[in-house]
Amino acid sequence: MIGKKYRKSMNRKIILAVGAHPDDLDFGCSGTVAKWVKEGATAYYLICTNGSKGSDDPKMTQKKLVKIRKMEQLAAAKVLGIKKVFFLSHEDGELENNLELKEKVTRIIRKVRPDIVFTTDPLMIYSKKRGYLNHPDHRACGQAVLDSIYPLSRDRLTFPNHEKEKLKPHKVKKVYLINFDEQDTFLDISSTIHLKIKALLLHKSQVSKEATERIKEWAKRVGKKKGYRFAEGFKKIILKN
Ligand SMILES: [Zn+2]
Repeated sequence: MIGKKYRKSMNRKIILAVGAHPDDLDFGCSGTVAKWVKEGATAYYLICTNGSKGSDDPKMTQKKLVKIRKMEQLAAAKVLGIKKVFFLSHEDGELENNLELKEKVTRIIRKVRPDIVFTTDPLMIYSKKRGYLNHPDHRACGQAVLDSIYPLSRDRLTFPNHEKEKLKPHKVKKVYLINFDEQDTFLDISSTIHLKIKALLLHKSQVSKEATERIKEWAKRVGKKKGYRFAEGFKKIILKN
């Protein structure tokens, strides 16, 4: 049963979160997605690559890792209340923002018809502050998603094969970009931080207990900006075209 703390303000809203690797969305937006699911939304995940490069274990093979990461993502999504996870299974480290990827993303957008889309900010190339280069798959994913939202999903004559499959054009209303340095919107995840941590811990091949402690600390720091116990921050775009 859903307690009083969850208003049904997201009733009938549809959310699509698109990430490059299994676990990206659980780091970036799972607290908010889980909260909005509790508030009545239906959420879907779309994962673009198979995550086949994410291991230092000398005994690990790519084939094994792909299977493990898919299972981990499905288990994490279940904890968060995600209705379905779509996997495009492109090769990890080789994702390109090309027409092939955009056609696939547009197909999913036209299929699930989201009001709200989450993805990684393609403008996040590096962080001087944190001393890291952003993974090129994250950039390719974010750019492909934005291109697919506008104009590809909107225009009837783009990918006319979709019309034959009864997929109609679709306009997304809001986009939340995951960017760990630049944020303009802070959302309270105090009621779902435990689900975010639980989901992250299910990515056993990727995430340690210590890493989740750091994520919790970071969510606390983000929350302080708005007086929330825990928060996630995004760059928000409201679309009018
Ligand atoms: Zn990633």
